[in-house]
Amino acid sequence: MSNQQVEVLVVGAGQAGIAMSEHLSAQRIPHLVLERDRIAERWRSWRWDSLVANGPAWHDRFPGLEFDVAPDAFASKEQVADYLVAYADKIDAPIRTGVTVSSVRKLPRQAGFRVETSDGPVDARFVVAATGAFQKPVIPRVVPESAGIHQIHSSAYQNPQQLPEGAVMVIGAGSSGVQIADELRQSGRQVYLAVGPHDRPPRSYRGRDFCWWLGVLGKWDMSAPPRGAEHVTIAVSGAHGGHTVDFRNLAATGITLLGMAGPYENGVMTFAQDLRQNIERGDANYLSMLDEADAYVTRNGLDLPEEPQARVFGPDPDCVTDPVESIDLADAGITSIIWAVGFAFDYGWLQVDAFDDNGRPRHQRGVSTEPGIYFLGLPWQSRRGSSFIWGVWHDAKYLADQIAIQRSYLAYEAPALAHH
Ligand SMILES: Cc1cc2nc3c(=O)[nH]c(=O)nc-3n(C[C@H](O)[C@H](O)[C@H](O)COP(=O)(O)OP(=O)(O)OC[C@H]3O[C@@H](n4cnc5c(N)ncnc54)[C@H](O)[C@@H]3O)c2cc1C
Repeated sequence: MSNQQVEVLVVGAGQAGIAMSEHLSAQRIPHLVLERDRIAERWRSWRWDSLVANGPAWHDRFPGLEFDVAPDAFASKEQVADYLVAYADKIDAPIRTGVTVSSVRKLPRQAGFRVETSDGPVDARFVVAATGAFQKPVIPRVVPESAGIHQIHSSAYQNPQQLPEGAVMVIGAGSSGVQIADELRQSGRQVYLAVGPHDRPPRSYRGRDFCWWLGVLGKWDMSAPPRGAEHVTIAVSGAHGGHTVDFRNLAATGITLLGMAGPYENGVMTFAQDLRQNIERGDANYLSMLDEADAYVTRNGLDLPEEPQARVFGPDPDCVTDPVESIDLADAGITSIIWAVGFAFDYGWLQVDAFDDNGRPRHQRGVSTEPGIYFLGLPWQSRRGSSFIWGVWHDAKYLADQIAIQRSYLAYEAPALAHH
């Protein structure tokens, strides 16, 4: 029996797979999308209950469909998932759900790839890996299981009730860490938050959301992170209608801020003495955005209300002026640690020559070093916006163009030969 044949196989039906399908259809390229769970599963089961989109509904979307919520509101995680399902439906995307791709290998001495799936083998000329930027939750081996602390990754956090009684340490202060720490504190928990280097743009300034500012200032289109800022997270939040993340305010609610988490030994965790530096760096990033925004307003003669109070910071909290060096977890009553330190790639199923020694995709704008294999949804794939809903749509368009170009070469026949 021969295998199922497809021209392009797209693996994953999150926003990346859906956008890819739209652009392949626009080019009339036959394709199939395989998804191991449901469409947009990550938005349903890998995000905490109260999560809303980081960007307003007018911004964090595909061009072809608006959200069913007010343009300036922040869609809930379920609304984002429903939106992506509706989008897939609208473009009639050929998605098969509940099918896991277990391996992709080059076919020997012929074009294309053998794809093993839970639904049988498929042969594909081209494969697009649209399995997301956030694949494998990272929990560093710092605190051993024998310590008896309940440890989870931010992607497994749902709500405060899920955690055992007691104080919580949240490690990592990007968008996930700060929002989870805030929610836990509001629920009455004692909370410790380890803060590393971060950017913290103002939620809004002079009446415009930061998504708008990053857009007009060309920052979503930056092709690479600024030198030395490769590991800097962005701390933004759409929670409670959207507000600027301000670590002084978080401390004022009773959260104890800490520097970067260091080693753990005999029940005691130590912290780098870098909290002040990390907060000052975040402040500098925040203020530089206000400066650039002001310059933009002046240069373009815009009539946007001035906002001098945005430059006023509260006093430094005690945990910044007198930083904590170490904590005995038992003495502090800490029963849980939430690791909000990000994700690693997991391309174990993609057994092709498209990875460097560290397992990272080798590619240019998603076109991999293995001809016929493409990546989509990578952070900074072509620009800063690449891993976000609106950004991936443009990268998918580029990849569909690249696949169409390859197909036209493959379709070429020399005129003389074609005659015989
Ligand atoms: C907490 C959090 C909040 C975020 N908030 C926003 C936001 O507000 N706005 C925004 O624009 N972006 C946001 N992002 C970034 C980004 O939009 C999301 O991560 C988004 O889910 C990425 O979409 P994707 O399609 O690239 O990957 P995913 O959504 O991860 O989709 C990949 C799909 O591939 C499937 N899959 C994986 N392996 C296989 C396999 N071997 N076989 C078959 N199927 C497979 C998975 O089941 C999954 O459904 C957020 C990210 C996180 C982590």
